[in-house]
Amino acid sequence: HAKKSGRSTFRIYRRGMDELIEKRRALEADIERGLEREEFELYLQPRVAARSGDVVGYEALIRWNHPERGMVSPGDFIPVAEVSGKIIALGEWVVREACRLASLCPDHLHLSLNVSPVQFRHPDFLSHLDRIVRVSGIAPQRLELEITESVLIDDDERALSILTHLKSAGFRIALDDFGTGYSSLSYLSRYPFDVIKIDRSFVAALGTEEAANSIVRTIIDLGRGLGMRVVAEGVETIEQAVHLSETGCDELQGYLLGRPLPAAEAVTEITNTLVRELQQVAGLAAHRE
Ligand code: C2E
Ligand code: MG
Ligand code: MG
Ligand code: MG
Repeated sequence: HAKKSGRSTFRIYRRGMDELIEKRRALEADIERGLEREEFELYLQPRVAARSGDVVGYEALIRWNHPERGMVSPGDFIPVAEVSGKIIALGEWVVREACRLASLCPDHLHLSLNVSPVQFRHPDFLSHLDRIVRVSGIAPQRLELEITESVLIDDDERALSILTHLKSAGFRIALDDFGTGYSSLSYLSRYPFDVIKIDRSFVAALGTEEAANSIVRTIIDLGRGLGMRVVAEGVETIEQAVHLSETGCDELQGYLLGRPLPAAEAVTEITNTLVRELQQVAGLAAHRE
């Protein structure tokens, strides 16, 4: 009897596996089709200087405008794209589109883009990135690559070599979601990060969990002590913004400061602001004459 039930459990398991594999294959084909039909889109979310409130740059966040499923979040397709290798084509599209958007924005704004660990470790990552950026004419200094700690754990030497190349090519590097992964303090001194982004789970717990306040303060002191800019993610309330700013956080990002907007809308907004500022300057100049 035990044998029989074992066999049927196995059959159920097999069926489950087959369905999963089938689903994954369908999604892979779907991603490829989506790239061909230009269904992917970058949204832009502002990053703001904590002291002045000035927008200093934008983070590009991918969305999939799926013909049947509607707007799909990265959490629902990036993991599958990573397993199947589709992340390479997708990641290249992100770099190309981010460069195009950066070229439409004023030079003082930087653009951050997320790089998957699979993409980061791909043998052609550096050469492809270099080629795309060169063709676009964008200064690498305007691009910030956001990576997570998972990039660092497997192969220390290789990760260090890639990061060193990126730095010497002029790119800025940010350590995303800091505090959630395998957070090792030694990462911070060993690798050449320009920016640390405090994960939003700590920001959300500010003021309610005693430990969160200490953790956030420690990350800020550590980052700044090592000469990095510290950015808080997921800032949703004024209280969080004030607390972070008073604790010495350099930049804020979150719904309070601005939600991610479709790139076209964000760029229009940026251009309008610029035009208004120019008009003000022109008005002042005319007044003086
Ligand atoms: P992330 O890089 O840590 O991005 C921050 C996420 O927090 C985004 O979710 C953003 O929409 C969300 N967020 C921003 N402000 C707030 C806030 O105030 N409250 C809350 N609750 N959430 C906020 P999103 O766009 O769904 O992206 C999720 C993750 O998917 C990203 O996390 C990143 O790891 C990945 N991802 C996004 N775009 C790309 C991409 O182009 N390539 C790759 N490889 N990964 C991407
Ligand atoms: Mg990010
Ligand atoms: Mg993050
Ligand atoms: Mg994240």
